[in-house]
Amino acid sequence: MATPSTTFHSDSSSARGAVGGDDPLMGRINQLLEKGFPLMRFPGALEQQFLLDLAEPRRRHFLISSLISLLIYNGFLIVDYLMTRDTFWLAVQLRIFFFTPLSVFFIYLIWRKRGIFIHSLPPASLEVIVVSSGLIAAASLAFILSETHSVFKFYYHVGFVVVILYGNIVQRLRFWYATVFSASVLGIHIAGILLLGPFPERLLWPILSIITSAAVFSLTANYVMERDERKRYLLTMRERGVVRELTRTHERLRELSRVDSLTGLYNRRHFQEVLERVWERAQFDGGYLSILMVDVDHFKKFNDRYGHPAGDECLAQIAKVLQQTLRRPDDMVARYGGEEFIALLPQTEASYAVVVADRIRAAVEALHMRHESSTSSHFVTVSVGVASCRVDFLLKSSALIAAADQALYQAKHEGRNRVCTQDVGQAASAG
Ligand code: GH3
Ligand code: MG
Ligand code: MG
Repeated sequence: MATPSTTFHSDSSSARGAVGGDDPLMGRINQLLEKGFPLMRFPGALEQQFLLDLAEPRRRHFLISSLISLLIYNGFLIVDYLMTRDTFWLAVQLRIFFFTPLSVFFIYLIWRKRGIFIHSLPPASLEVIVVSSGLIAAASLAFILSETHSVFKFYYHVGFVVVILYGNIVQRLRFWYATVFSASVLGIHIAGILLLGPFPERLLWPILSIITSAAVFSLTANYVMERDERKRYLLTMRERGVVRELTRTHERLRELSRVDSLTGLYNRRHFQEVLERVWERAQFDGGYLSILMVDVDHFKKFNDRYGHPAGDECLAQIAKVLQQTLRRPDDMVARYGGEEFIALLPQTEASYAVVVADRIRAAVEALHMRHESSTSSHFVTVSVGVASCRVDFLLKSSALIAAADQALYQAKHEGRNRVCTQDVGQAASAG
């Protein structure tokens, strides 16, 4: 408690400019919010941070949509039965015995190995898994269509639309993965048309345009969803930054209101607050408390001779001595007035307080700051008034301060550069 914990500069940088002030990250976030990010990528480390921060919600979304998609995928056995009955057994094998166990294995892995998934594997792993699962589903559909002789098989090509919706909308692949995925599913569809025998002319363009439109529309929706997600992320980051900045400013203002700017010591107001707290505790504990009142001798003459700036520097040096001399964690020193300082020593009896006071007096004298106008020494000196008491409920803290003040007056009266003590209500002096 002896000294303020932080050094403060009268810096106004955080108040400058838009939200975020000089913070480069906040600057970049503001710029992205303003100018947008049409390529669906943030610059540099921000992209990595974004992917990392959203890895967990993304993983949860993947688990839920995978389970739903798997149910629907197997539900398509009904469609298989109705449209391609001759290869129904093949469809059962592909759906139930191949795709389902493979999917369940990955879903289980991603569900159980959360730590590995979030922290060890690159964030793109999930996209790769989704793209692969979609392409396997598309390939298995193409395989069924290549094996069946059903007359409805050409209509079943619209099944690729469902696969595209799965990747772009249900799983919400990141935009660039969604683009590659859609193009690949379209590719599988076109390869199927080219490789697997004659496709009815009248169905070719309608089905191709249905699948292509589904790809374009769902990609557009995917783009908008990702843009909104990224925007929300940036806004949240900015909000957090603002809160952080406000908290910092609040802390700084609080400290500034407690600290004296010339010496860096606590000010009188804060001293009074601390004294009241310590006093109340001491009333319950019945402990001792001492106060030292320190005043620079002939300081007016010092100012007159060496100038006000030199006087300021002198006060700063004395403040440093006080900080260095009062070493116990509960001791506290403050600037009480112009060239007057005050120290609070909890759990300290008069005998020890006098020792500390004299240590302070000797340390200031040892600074050897010349003071040729002083009538009590060649150097700057201080007088110290010490008051101690055992705190009880009948006593007020102001009585202790008054006693220290009186002891100081006595030290001045007896010639300065000395320590005098006074018990509350009973005077004694030490030279
Ligand atoms: P004494 O030994 O009796 O204490 O004499 P003194 O001259 O120190 O006491 P007095 O109260 O007459 O004068 C105090 C001087 O302290 C007057 C004022 O100009 C100076 N002072 C107060 N605050 C500051 C300050 O922040 N900077 C400087 N340079 N001087 C200050
Ligand atoms: Mg003085
Ligand atoms: Mg004074």
